[in-house]
Amino acid sequence: MGTTAAEVERDRARLREFVEAHPRLFVLTGAGCSTDSGIPDYRDTNGGWKRPQPVTYQAFMGEKVTRQRYWARSLVGWRRFGRAQPNATHRALARLEQQGRIATLLTQNVDGLHQAAGHRNVIDLHGRLDEVRCMGCDARLPRNAFQQALVERNPSWALLDAGDAPDGDADLEGRDFSRFDVPPCPACGGILKPDVVFFGENVPRHRVDAAVTSLNEADAMLVVGSSLMVFSGYRFAAAAAREGKPIAAVNLGKTRADPLLSLKIEQSCAEALSFVS
Ligand SMILES: [Zn+2]
Repeated sequence: MGTTAAEVERDRARLREFVEAHPRLFVLTGAGCSTDSGIPDYRDTNGGWKRPQPVTYQAFMGEKVTRQRYWARSLVGWRRFGRAQPNATHRALARLEQQGRIATLLTQNVDGLHQAAGHRNVIDLHGRLDEVRCMGCDARLPRNAFQQALVERNPSWALLDAGDAPDGDADLEGRDFSRFDVPPCPACGGILKPDVVFFGENVPRHRVDAAVTSLNEADAMLVVGSSLMVFSGYRFAAAAAREGKPIAAVNLGKTRADPLLSLKIEQSCAEALSFVS
């Protein structure tokens, strides 16, 4: 792109000014925050899919084989995903919150790494992957406990390794998933699902309402590491723009909200936030 060191410095200074000028920030984060923690991104810099589109809610609930394939991949992928640690971006945002500059952080990520970095006021828009929920009786169990049940029933799968994919699953294409044994809900025998919002599924209403209230009380919006291609995230940028609130975004590549931005920083999240001390 031919960006010079002086331009990088100038952009960083502009971001710092933006943060200092708006003490009640509403921050929205996406996959770009977590790539430095070893969790890959779904999208390329043009906002297109890097790999086959993830499983839909309808396929997961409707087809046994889809659940078998999902949990087989998840069994293998969880070993690394479950151990991922927060990185410099999570820590910089947590420090900004401690300094009183961030009112609310809304994340599209499901990895819990903002909280692991000490961030307190976080809304997990798409849920958390570290919990499993029964679609029959609403019982919940920790993903780590469910991992043990998966391994006990499928010991040969536990020996496999595969390329890591987003959201804690793994690439195991070409395998026969039909003998993978998925444990049912221990309480009612129902279908267990990770407590995250799948494609084709609605974000719970109370979560959206809480985020909208926070946005209304903020004086500006800062997007960190998201292309906003998914409507559930984009609509907050659209709402901020309607209310006349300035929006800054840090993202490598295009975002769906580019025409709405007052400031766009095309750097990695960690670089752009390196002014935070
Ligand atoms: Zn149940």
